[in-house]
Amino acid sequence: GIDRDLLVVSNRLPDFRHIEGDEGVERKKNVGGLVSALEPALRARGGMWLGWSGRTVPDTDTVESGVIDDRTAQLAWFDYKESWYRDYYSGFCNGTLWPLFHSFPSRVTLSDKGWDAYKEVHEVIAEVASGHIGSRAMIWVHDYHLLMLANVMRRRGHTGPMGHFLHIPFPSLDMFSMLPWAAQILDAMLDFDLLGFHTPAHVANFLSCASSLLPAKVADDVVSHRGRITHVAAMPIGILPDTFQEPPEPAIVEEIDGLMRALGESQLVLGVDRLDYTKGIPERLIAFGRLLEMFPEWRGKVSLVQVSVPSRADVPLYAEQRASIETIVGRINGEFGEAAWVPIRYLYRSYSKAQLSQLYRAARVGYVTPLRDGMNLVAKEYVAAQDPENPGVLLLSQFAGAAVEMRDAILTNPYHADGMARDLDRALRVDLPERKARHGKLLASVQRSNAVTWAEGFLDALSACR
Ligand code: UDP
Repeated sequence: GIDRDLLVVSNRLPDFRHIEGDEGVERKKNVGGLVSALEPALRARGGMWLGWSGRTVPDTDTVESGVIDDRTAQLAWFDYKESWYRDYYSGFCNGTLWPLFHSFPSRVTLSDKGWDAYKEVHEVIAEVASGHIGSRAMIWVHDYHLLMLANVMRRRGHTGPMGHFLHIPFPSLDMFSMLPWAAQILDAMLDFDLLGFHTPAHVANFLSCASSLLPAKVADDVVSHRGRITHVAAMPIGILPDTFQEPPEPAIVEEIDGLMRALGESQLVLGVDRLDYTKGIPERLIAFGRLLEMFPEWRGKVSLVQVSVPSRADVPLYAEQRASIETIVGRINGEFGEAAWVPIRYLYRSYSKAQLSQLYRAARVGYVTPLRDGMNLVAKEYVAAQDPENPGVLLLSQFAGAAVEMRDAILTNPYHADGMARDLDRALRVDLPERKARHGKLLASVQRSNAVTWAEGFLDALSACR
């Protein structure tokens, strides 16, 4: 296995496993866009994917690792110790880096224990990785959980190309400087050959941090540091748009049809997110309430369906967010609801991709208003799922990475409830010719810059670094 020439590393190992469907037809489980995007490259190169198994073991046990053979790729896994789950995953990754990189300084916790765990886990993952690949193999590392992996791998003698893609924003210098370990993290990141970000603004933030906090030289899209060169690039991730146009199975149609029947004649405004404070769900609900106050003609004529997928529910900030959302839903429904009309339907659960496709298609407005988001795939999926002859309107936060490419959406400021209510009113009033024109341009962009072009683009750029 040492001649394998591509290793993908991400915090969580994706669920690739194939299942047998009806009539023995091979189908796959609901896999995410990242997996689908990388599948061709992994197949072509006989690649391996390394990540956490999702299991934790007591601190006193030795950490297990192993390999599962899948048809697409070999999956190399390792377990977490309980203290890693607490101090590395919930602590440093989701309690420090996540809020900081999304520019929520008041939610950032800083602890030496978290930092020590972050470094320790990198050492362990590097050791596992080294056991699976030769020192000249290409390695593609994903996201904020593993910013320092190239540094540790280089120390272990890895000479092959190493690239990193950051799936969340890279914050401004002001924000990033809040991290006591800012310089160490930047220094370690510059052991990658290629750093990919979603937007030019994230690239610019990274470059200003590198030139201010390190003695690094920045010229265009190249950083020189300690005699090494690192390329930086904006390469926005995409989706597989065709997969949101597949005709749904009868059982799926039935469930969403039931929801649509409950909405009656109301126009559907749809929000879909993980339950996360970066998504701006309370602000979105409040602005919907403002719509009903400012434009009473919409009462009884529109309903907001908010799908909130349970996420990080063991973290107190997330539990608080959930409670505050439920309070706002109750207040608005109590204030405006009528016997025959519920203003907001709040669903604390997740849906399959097929169900989401049907929901997206039924929605007159895709209400996608994160306070901050690296990209936001829901915005792209909403566009991909529309009926081109009768498409809905995307109302998109100006603070989502997706807003850079999706200028034909109606862009909105999620911090300004009155403004967002006016933008929602406008989105609901867009006539059919304008809806088609906006949708046509958005769809062209979602099709052109998709998940496969993104993955190929990254791997080509990484190969070209050498
Ligand atoms: N998603 C899903 N089921 C749901 C809600 C969301 O599978 O009930 C998926 C959605 O299709 C999208 C992803 O979750 O691909 C969310 O990605 P996004 O970039 O919008 O936000 P993230 O959760 O990564 O911050």
